[in-house]
Amino acid sequence: MGGKVAVAIAAAAAVLLSCSVAAVMVGRRIKSRSKWRGVVEILKELEEACDTPVGRLRQLVDAMAVEMHAGLASEGGSKLKMLLTFFHHLPNGTEKGTYYALHLGGTYFRILRVHLGGERSYLDVQDVERHPIPSHLMNSTSEVLFNFLAFSLERFIEKEGNGSSSQGVKRELAFTFSFPLKHSSISSGVLIKWTKGFEISEMVGKDVAECLQGALNRRGLDMHVAALVNDTVGALSLGYYHDPDTVVAVVFGTGSNACYLERTDAIIKSQGLLTTSGNMVVNMEWGNFWSSHLPRTSYDIDLDAESSNPNDTGFEKMIAGLYLGDIVRRVILHMSQVSDIFGPTSSLLSEPYVLRTNSVSAMHEDDTHELREVARILKDLGVSEVPLKVRKLVVKICDVVTRRAGRLAAAGIAGILKKIGRDGSGGITSGRSRSEVQMQKRTVVAVEGGLYMNYTMFREYVEEALVEILGEEVSQYVVVKAMEDGSSIGSALLVASLQS
Ligand code: ADP
Ligand code: MG
Repeated sequence: MGGKVAVAIAAAAAVLLSCSVAAVMVGRRIKSRSKWRGVVEILKELEEACDTPVGRLRQLVDAMAVEMHAGLASEGGSKLKMLLTFFHHLPNGTEKGTYYALHLGGTYFRILRVHLGGERSYLDVQDVERHPIPSHLMNSTSEVLFNFLAFSLERFIEKEGNGSSSQGVKRELAFTFSFPLKHSSISSGVLIKWTKGFEISEMVGKDVAECLQGALNRRGLDMHVAALVNDTVGALSLGYYHDPDTVVAVVFGTGSNACYLERTDAIIKSQGLLTTSGNMVVNMEWGNFWSSHLPRTSYDIDLDAESSNPNDTGFEKMIAGLYLGDIVRRVILHMSQVSDIFGPTSSLLSEPYVLRTNSVSAMHEDDTHELREVARILKDLGVSEVPLKVRKLVVKICDVVTRRAGRLAAAGIAGILKKIGRDGSGGITSGRSRSEVQMQKRTVVAVEGGLYMNYTMFREYVEEALVEILGEEVSQYVVVKAMEDGSSIGSALLVASLQS
């Protein structure tokens, strides 16, 4: 008997054991399924919070146009500063000579030289240099920053050698400056505030053209800062040079901003402002646009609170290159905290701005077998060996964030078109006669910036939403033109147009 009983007991124990193993496994699966469910829930919440149906976009179009009016009506009348630039003539193709531009962007600085032969087709862009701005300069002193820029210009000029056409002549320079300025003329303006992570507080209130000219003089450089040009205004100039239907320019780079050609009589806050053309380029500083219709998430709120300029540039923080990567990072971090699908939470993921928007586009547009590029970028963030479905989830996050950005950007553009009566709706009335708005004119929007030029999906979302907002018919009259290096080249053209 003993033997049989022992076997029976052993068998029963084995059954029990296997049952409990199975129970543990099922438990784990349920747990992991519920963790996965938590992540899917976060994704769903994100999608809902970032939703931009065309109705909402139209509300934003209206809000943008209304804010533009308010910003033009009085100083401080809107979050949109609607800054005067004093430029009222744009280059028309007859310019001649050799001109320089120095462009301080948010990530890069560029130096270039253009040679113009007096005909539109004779535009020779020479020696474009582009370098990342050393990060220590962003919170150094104005002296350190401008000495560095002057030094870079000196080296650029040294390379020209003796063969340069401009030898012996004072060199005329455009300073393309992509931060908000209060201009007092074409060639002078004081810094209103920094954006895009720059933090040199003693610069605020200083004339940046004077700072640059001073640094050039100290180095003994025979260069004259002939114009102070917002980067959007540079892009508008290059657009106009090639095509006089260009009346709006938008930059999507590290930051985002727009400018357009406005009638002086619509600039109520500067009554009596007279220009020979009857127009003036207005720098909107649209990064600071705000509306309750903007689809804001908890990630945006946290990003803003932890940024170097909280409660500022709310629109820019949803659409510009500096920020898109960080929104995506925040979503992934949140997911990795509620679930182990990303493995143990990587400490790198908690570091602001480690995930660059360049990497977001690389992941979003990853067409490799099994998303190897996504795996590589996640590995750099300390997240390794995640299964394919998690990599797909990351691609989806990139898509949601970038789609929202592109669609909001399109609403911004349509808002400007509405303000100037080019959106097919007849505009909102202000100093513009009825007969003028009724005829749909061809309108070119010049666009530049690293985000737009290099992130195909972003660009496609902008264009798609613009057609959705304007409708097929009106869209036919609106041409969006990409302008590579437009802000720097166009600024040099502006200086050229001042000489003629
Ligand atoms: P800046 O803002 O200094 O004038 P750019 O206009 O070249 O310079 O914009 C640079 C920014 O554009 C980068 O910081 C990044 O946010 C974005 N960007 C550049 N390349 C890509 C890319 N391949 N994919 C997505 N974003 C990009
Ligand atoms: Mg730029």
